[in-house]
Amino acid sequence: MMISVDIGEAGFRPAARIASVGVSKILQIGAKAAAMKREGFPVIILGAGEPNFDTPDHIKQAAKAAIDAGETKYTALDGSPALKQAACAKFKRENGIDYAIDEVTAGAGAKQILFNAFMATIDPGDEVIIPTPCWTSYSDIVEVCGGTSVLVPCDAAAGFRLQAEQLENAITPRTRWVLLNSPSNPSGAAYSAADYQPLIDVLLRHPHIWLMVDDMYEHIVYDGFEFVTPVALEPRLKERALTVNGVSKAYAMTGWRIGYAGGPKALIKAMAVIQSQATSCPCSISQAAAIAALNGPQEFLKDRQASFKRRRDLVVGRLNAIPGLECRTPEGAFYTFSSCAGILNKVTPNGKTIATDADFTDYLLEDAQVAVVPGSAFGLSPFFRISYATSEEELVEALNRIERACAALKGSILP
Ligand code: PMP
Repeated sequence: MMISVDIGEAGFRPAARIASVGVSKILQIGAKAAAMKREGFPVIILGAGEPNFDTPDHIKQAAKAAIDAGETKYTALDGSPALKQAACAKFKRENGIDYAIDEVTAGAGAKQILFNAFMATIDPGDEVIIPTPCWTSYSDIVEVCGGTSVLVPCDAAAGFRLQAEQLENAITPRTRWVLLNSPSNPSGAAYSAADYQPLIDVLLRHPHIWLMVDDMYEHIVYDGFEFVTPVALEPRLKERALTVNGVSKAYAMTGWRIGYAGGPKALIKAMAVIQSQATSCPCSISQAAAIAALNGPQEFLKDRQASFKRRRDLVVGRLNAIPGLECRTPEGAFYTFSSCAGILNKVTPNGKTIATDADFTDYLLEDAQVAVVPGSAFGLSPFFRISYATSEEELVEALNRIERACAALKGSILP
């Protein structure tokens, strides 16, 4: 899913393990859009998976207090006892799961948690089942760790959700993990208890498979959707599941780099071995901030949710009014994942035929100066992702431009 780039100067030989991995397409588009902006083009970037809110004040204050109190040294490898306690309390309070302190871990973002977990468990040839569309990093982390990602495309008609039969068919004796993400980046689709149950039933029939769940967008759900996580639904999974979460999205803390997870003690210990050789520990000051986030007031999350919902409704409504585009209403996260099937084979004013979703997103960037990400970057085409974690004014302007750009396309020149 990632596209390889020229990594080095002549004479530099990258390790084989990164041969098939490159810089994320999202980051590439972001870099191109930023370069256009520097040249004076009024580019609107709807590519980043980052809330435009600021980190709440009480969280910043906790970090400042930690600096003043001299909490500026190495901490325990995979999180201070206070952060682990806060994570345990969060899992109990919000998810109804009892994790003991030695069943939780913290790292430099959920990304490092995923990396530690795969690095600690995957041997060459081990397989990880990943439903697509999915966050671009999953398969790349698996590949870096020497594993094989088994991508299972999930239709818009099925709500972009993995179906039990698809899971069953993807399982082999080499399957090590299944990775589920709800609400999803990029589709915004979320699994209800009823959606999860058939998948859980399959997993119970295959005890050699472990379940990784990425709950990063837990707090961004709409229309009364009831967030659930599989271990809360099926306690028997607890001994072979890793429940991953973090503070980046919920608390607008992407730059602080703290993620955490709950799982069986042996796995948590193995992950700490990887972390000890990679970063020693997460940043002490960010840990103090994350403790304040998890233990502090949670009411503001509702306001932010309401604001995201307004933007979601705006974006979905406008996209569905554009001929050629079709957007499913997402249950959560801050992304739309729209089909651009109706645009394919049309011709741009410059005479270029739009053959793929990447051609469409290139056209939007170059002609309309709106940066969005093609579905191919997430393993499902022909779609494109919009991140609506930006201001309503910017969204309206971007949607005006997308509408105009689509209207400027000429009909198919194919028979
Ligand atoms: N999981 C998903 C689904 C994400 O979208 C992201 C960030 N884009 C992450 C994990 C990683 O989050 P972080 O490392 O900032 O905690």
